[in-house]
Amino acid sequence: MATAAAPEESAPSKCFPTVTHVILDLDGTLINTEQLVDEVVTSVLDKRGEFTAGQLHKAIEQVRGMRPKDGTKAILQILQLDTEIHSVDDVLAETGELLNQRWGEVNMMPGAKRLLDYLHEHGIKTALATSTPSDFLEKKMESHDGWIKKINVVATGDEVENGKPAPDIFTLAMERLGVSDAKKCIVLEDTSLGVQAAKASGAFAIAIPSIQNDQKTYETSGADSIIKSLYDFQPERWGLPGFEDYLDVQVKDTAGETQEPETHQILPLHPAINLGGPVVKGFGRGSKTLGVPTANLEIGPIKLESDKLAPGIYFGWAGLRDGEGVTDGKNSNTPISSTYPMVMSIGWNPFFENSQKTCEPWLLHDFGDNGDFYGRELRLSVLGYIRPEANFVSLESLIERIHKDASVAKAALDLSQFRDKRKDTYLLFGET
Ligand code: ADP
Ligand code: MG
Repeated sequence: MATAAAPEESAPSKCFPTVTHVILDLDGTLINTEQLVDEVVTSVLDKRGEFTAGQLHKAIEQVRGMRPKDGTKAILQILQLDTEIHSVDDVLAETGELLNQRWGEVNMMPGAKRLLDYLHEHGIKTALATSTPSDFLEKKMESHDGWIKKINVVATGDEVENGKPAPDIFTLAMERLGVSDAKKCIVLEDTSLGVQAAKASGAFAIAIPSIQNDQKTYETSGADSIIKSLYDFQPERWGLPGFEDYLDVQVKDTAGETQEPETHQILPLHPAINLGGPVVKGFGRGSKTLGVPTANLEIGPIKLESDKLAPGIYFGWAGLRDGEGVTDGKNSNTPISSTYPMVMSIGWNPFFENSQKTCEPWLLHDFGDNGDFYGRELRLSVLGYIRPEANFVSLESLIERIHKDASVAKAALDLSQFRDKRKDTYLLFGET
């Protein structure tokens, strides 16, 4: 459960203004293209020079948010590649071709569908302001079910003179929205260059880092608010209607200081996310450091599903398949499966230098002497979101929070709509 993390909301949470229009960046904000782009750009550059993975990563980071051509030009400069031999157009064409074959792999960012539905249902006027050129955009969005049509106006990278961090794209988006006062617009952006561009246009900007990133870069870009994922966007703070899909759960104060139950809000996930695999060794810090054992799943095989979850704390049910020799006592040859309430964290593990998430569920059950799951099959049905990852001043406060998360998870799972999911055939390995 313990993952290093940025503060929950490091925004200067002063007085939030009232906005009427929402401008959305595309890559890394609504769709999860950043990892694919990194992979493809890395492969294209790798054969053009002797670079370390670190050098390439750093170069790509510096151009995140730029238009493809600007970004390519800047990268070749950063890497000091001879453009007589490696022309911008060649590199761009090769990257573009490879990407065009693979856009179909790209998922929406966690919370993006919910946000777009919310904006549409409330009739809030929206713009897409993307560095992607228009001829590329269609291909990129082919596998995306036409939701882009629900966005009122679109401004693409090829329509403006200067790309992000210049404000042009946002200024154009505002023009198309018919907004003359930039202070009526809030921009959602995942890159610091995008945040700079939004601020330069006069709009407000919320940064939602798509890849684990240094919080500082967003602060220096002038972000008005920094949130961990789209789940944490609170439109009511900006004078817009609030989301209505949260559910309240009542939890008794675990520290026993007050008798009054506390109310916590949880966010049901639609659809629930199923993840599973054999339990692997983690870093031993769960039970040792925190007194909270977490049965880690290897992230590689569950990448597709786990990418649908923003870093944070979740609740759901866990199905655990009994190991050989562990049986129901009736038929000694048949392994049985049982389900348990669970609370889990999913997030960036500092050990993996921001490239991989870890998935760490704590099964809320005392297994006593049978508490060794290594190698056993674990299945998780993740039903709802509790909170973003957070920083804690001390180990004690982290532990206290994890126990509170566990209470919230149990209370949530007691709600009828989640209670019934306990006997899901997925969790029972199809044995119902
Ligand atoms: P690791 O770092 O290897 O994940 P932890 O200290 O987090 O080690 O302990 C996790 C292990 O503890 C699990 O893999 C499992 O074998 C065992 N375990 C015992 N009880 C539980 C529980 N209630 N929830 C999760 N894991 C448990
Ligand atoms: Mg663990």
